[in-house]
Amino acid sequence: LNSKLPTVGTTIFSLMSKMAADYNAINLSQGFPDFMPDARLIECINDAMKSGHNQYAPMAGNIRLREHIVEKVERLYKANYNPETEITITAGGTQAIFTALSAVIHPGDEVIVFEPAYDCYAPAIKLLGGLVKPFELTAPDYKIDWEMVKKLFTAKTKLIILNTPHNPTGTILTPKDIAALIKLTKNTDILILSDEVYEHIIFDNEEHQSIARYPELFERSFIVASFGKLLHATGWKIGYCMAPERLMNEFRKIHQFNVFSVNTPMQAGIANYLNQENIYPEISVFFQKKRDFFRDLIAQTRFKLLPCKGSYFQCVTFKDISNEKDLDFAERLVKDFGVAAIPVSAFYSKNPDEGTLRFCFAKKEETLQKAFEKLIKV
Ligand code: GLN
Repeated sequence: LNSKLPTVGTTIFSLMSKMAADYNAINLSQGFPDFMPDARLIECINDAMKSGHNQYAPMAGNIRLREHIVEKVERLYKANYNPETEITITAGGTQAIFTALSAVIHPGDEVIVFEPAYDCYAPAIKLLGGLVKPFELTAPDYKIDWEMVKKLFTAKTKLIILNTPHNPTGTILTPKDIAALIKLTKNTDILILSDEVYEHIIFDNEEHQSIARYPELFERSFIVASFGKLLHATGWKIGYCMAPERLMNEFRKIHQFNVFSVNTPMQAGIANYLNQENIYPEISVFFQKKRDFFRDLIAQTRFKLLPCKGSYFQCVTFKDISNEKDLDFAERLVKDFGVAAIPVSAFYSKNPDEGTLRFCFAKKEETLQKAFEKLIKV
């Protein structure tokens, strides 16, 4: 078979989660909570099924859910999307990203990707015949030098992928970053795909810099969000994409023939729940407690903490412990010490291995405590 993705293997998340299960290790690798979603939310989903929300949803998604999103985005980011034409509910963030890329990337188009980068971007671009133009960021602060980014621009630059708060590094874009981006893209046709699935998990009173806040960028951007992260239910695979109508039209042309429409009772149940409970202000507080708890523990080990401003990931370096490759070290951590993490080199196309691991702290305190009791022995 002439593989369309010859260099792609199984995702590091599947590999490390399987390894954690095989060795009965504490799984801080793949990003998902080990606690239940709100019982009220589950009731709302059950009620939706019982009350008959079981057939196809509208192609673009449950209108009450789309209206809720519009209202939230207006309240938080002062942006106006039309629920009829500019929001589509998707089967998770990854599908939204894939569909957005499919909608605009032609063979030969270049896409600027900041690395370390979430692992679904590059394969999607390649499958579409696009070219990944990686811009490498490094520890400890992974700061973007926008003047250097400009040097990657060519006549073929089609799109820039952003991710804030960032997976895996937990960095966030600042108003200065955005100002630089506005300046750089002014008078160009460059599009933006902004992966904001961790928008509600941001710490130390920082404000999420959604691209939706900036009219100059709004016009050229797809924004992707996730209910899995918001509701502690990653397995429900439900998220959404927002974009101005001219872009959303193209998005839907593909969505309708790939997914057609997303799980009906989930959408109805989530809409009911979110219209009853204002959960948004609590999420960052909830995860900041976990971040602080985990950081205090890790500070007692030989791992060195990197900054974490958002997301539910904490990166550490192990250079003082070992000079092994990060994948080798991560495997040994599972086998010999019983804790699974993600080696950060998996997020780079050219594998700069800085001896960095990513831990997920979306876990019960007792899970984090147990992991600490193992990590202190390393
Ligand atoms: N977003 C999750 C993470 O970063 C993984 C999701 C997946 O396995 N596809 O760990």
